[in-house]
Amino acid sequence: MSKIRQIILIQPEAASKPATGAPCNGCGVCCLLEPCPLGVLLSGRRRGACVAVRWRVEARQYRCGALSEPVDVLQHVLPKPMRRLVPHLAPGLARLAKRWIAVGQGCDSTVEARPLEEPPASPQIR
Ligand code: SF4
Ligand code: SF4
Repeated sequence: MSKIRQIILIQPEAASKPATGAPCNGCGVCCLLEPCPLGVLLSGRRRGACVAVRWRVEARQYRCGALSEPVDVLQHVLPKPMRRLVPHLAPGLARLAKRWIAVGQGCDSTVEARPLEEPPASPQIR
């Protein structure tokens, strides 16, 4: 089977992706590559970085914003007329994220991630 190559833009301070099954280190590779089922709902697409993934400077880790920053994520994804509902919807989104994403269960991504030798000309890091 042929391998598919895909370039993702990632914070230079992010940790390298660990082996599949090892503890998650917040490297962000999975969420920057394509959204999980919850991320598909939030992002409205199946490819590319999830709209909910957030870089945490102090931890130097990517986090699922649906879980850690549901208000911010909903402000970003909902159309303006619906944003007044954000305070009511945010706790539900966080609960859904807690159930749907595999927090604390180790890295479930089988992606082989390695840095490019030459970075893209004008990177836009999320
Ligand atoms: S699940 Fe794996 S690829 Fe995704 S952030 Fe955690 S360590 Fe990185
Ligand atoms: S775990 Fe969260 S940030 Fe990652 S793809 Fe799923 S919804 Fe998006």
